[in-house]
Amino acid sequence: MGKMKKTGQWASLLRPHARALAVGFAAVVGGAVFNLLEPWPLKIVLDDVLKSKPSAGEMDRILRHFSGPGRMAMLEAAVFAVLLIALGEAVCTYVQKYTTTSVGQHLTHTLRRNLYAHLQRLSLSFHDRKRTGDLISRVTDDIDAVQSFITGDLLTGAVNAMTLIGMVAVMFYLNWRFTLIALSVAPVLFTIVFVYTRKIKRVTRTMRKKQGEIVSVLQEVLNSIRVVKAFARENYEVRRLERESLEGVEIAMKARGMKAKLNPVVQLVVAAGTALVLWFGAVLVLNGGLTAGGLIVFLAYLSKMYKPMQQLSQMSDDYGKAVVGLERIQEVFATHADVVDLPRARVAPRLHGAIEFENVNFCYDEDRPVLRDVNLKIAAGSLAALVGPSGAGKTTIISMVARFYDPTTGVVKLDGVDVRRYKQASVRSQMAFVLQETVLFQGPLWRNIAYGRPDASRRDIERAAELANATEFIDKMPDGFDTVVGERGVTLSGGQRQRIAIARAVIRDSPVLILDEPTTGLDAESERLAFEALDRLMQGKTTIVVAHRLATVERADVIFVIEDGAVAEHGTHASLLRKEGVYARLSQTQSMLFAS
Ligand code: ADP
Ligand code: MG
Repeated sequence: MGKMKKTGQWASLLRPHARALAVGFAAVVGGAVFNLLEPWPLKIVLDDVLKSKPSAGEMDRILRHFSGPGRMAMLEAAVFAVLLIALGEAVCTYVQKYTTTSVGQHLTHTLRRNLYAHLQRLSLSFHDRKRTGDLISRVTDDIDAVQSFITGDLLTGAVNAMTLIGMVAVMFYLNWRFTLIALSVAPVLFTIVFVYTRKIKRVTRTMRKKQGEIVSVLQEVLNSIRVVKAFARENYEVRRLERESLEGVEIAMKARGMKAKLNPVVQLVVAAGTALVLWFGAVLVLNGGLTAGGLIVFLAYLSKMYKPMQQLSQMSDDYGKAVVGLERIQEVFATHADVVDLPRARVAPRLHGAIEFENVNFCYDEDRPVLRDVNLKIAAGSLAALVGPSGAGKTTIISMVARFYDPTTGVVKLDGVDVRRYKQASVRSQMAFVLQETVLFQGPLWRNIAYGRPDASRRDIERAAELANATEFIDKMPDGFDTVVGERGVTLSGGQRQRIAIARAVIRDSPVLILDEPTTGLDAESERLAFEALDRLMQGKTTIVVAHRLATVERADVIFVIEDGAVAEHGTHASLLRKEGVYARLSQTQSMLFAS
């Protein structure tokens, strides 16, 4: 870690914008030069136009050469120079602002896109652990912090640094002893700024973390507002956010206090420097060692030199935020997906759908095994049912078929081949899922149905809806298949959602079908319609269904009873009943025990 790496990160971010930055930098240099020239017309007017005896400095002679002789000519030149310098500065400022904004925006866009793409690639195990709100705040706020630093401070910082160097050089040329006096406060200033920057960075880190937590609370609660209202916990949730928010305020106030102290301290140090120069300067003028104009130019430079120093100190805040933002962004980039395509993974051929688990062990968290020595064999084209109490590990098992997680030990095989030998996308594209909860994305119904096969024709979509028993309610919708559903759209009932989910699976036409309690929570009529559709869908496919209804389970070619992360029994309905084991006991008490 350390500086080297951090600089490297900035460099790789900025490299693609080298040309724009070069233009911006040229503008910066121009701006600095114009800035340097600014006090000179005043000196000319003071020393050459208004005074009886024109001074004989090097610069004055050069200028007289350009303006021609005579006081009025000099005055005209000086006045003209004021305008010219202002114009030059204006142009440079514009170019610089334009390029930084453009670089900042494009860079933010790239960063946001890459970060989002990376989040999509990361395994489920990462998303299980991370709070969504925190990730959202990284994609939004942290990236914004980086952007505002690049747009607001990156080149301004360069301007300041360059102006500073230029000022010091010119001041040395004017009077080096004097300059040393003026600079005597600089080390104090820089030490103060450096120490404060580190402190500010530390507080900023805590602050950003707190902001991530606030977004998390918002996201979680607004996502489940129905539950909040159902339990009348609105006030509790308001208080919860209030508490988080107040903690945020406290941290922000701490940071503010720190920044509020920084500026006045810097002002005081600057005032001390100015006082020193004023004292020695006036004495020098009295002794005839310096002209009044010379002193004024010197003081003008001094204030110009202190200004970038002050700004550099203010910049430390933005810089702190940007560095912390980048840190948080890099943290996500540094996380690698647990489940990745192996180097020699190949594209899976069209699967028949034989599924096999060999001594599969798995845990979500290191210390708590979830699956223990699971062995199962499901023949291609058959219907397998998983039953067992809630929390037994049924959902985990089917997640592993799609390789959402890799086993800790053991192998999951598809058609006799370890799934890890195939590319993930090629395996998942041959599976269709109907899960307990169906999420609809904001958009028209037809696009929701075609989610897993975006190239499906309108005809395919309508046929899928028909097979899923969904046409019946879609036709009653205001715009039929074009009805917008999801957030801010029409809401569907649970049964309707499930039929959309089935249509989604139908349109995939995949050899493997995975159903995780697809009809839990549906009323009898919805359940009947859904099952009718599922029956059609299962034709000729390998199907694994997690179910709690005996009617579904009875027909299965093989039933696995999962208990406590292990297969307790397996066999057909009839053979398991004969065994008079767990299944027989469960089936007597019917569905209640299977419910989860
Ligand atoms: P079932 O589907 O049979 O109800 P699951 O497979 O969902 O059971 O869960 C099995 C066990 O694994 C449970 O103890 C559950 O708490 C745990 N579990 C499930 N998902 C996760 C997860 N994403 N992270 C950590 N633990 C999990
Ligand atoms: Mg489950």
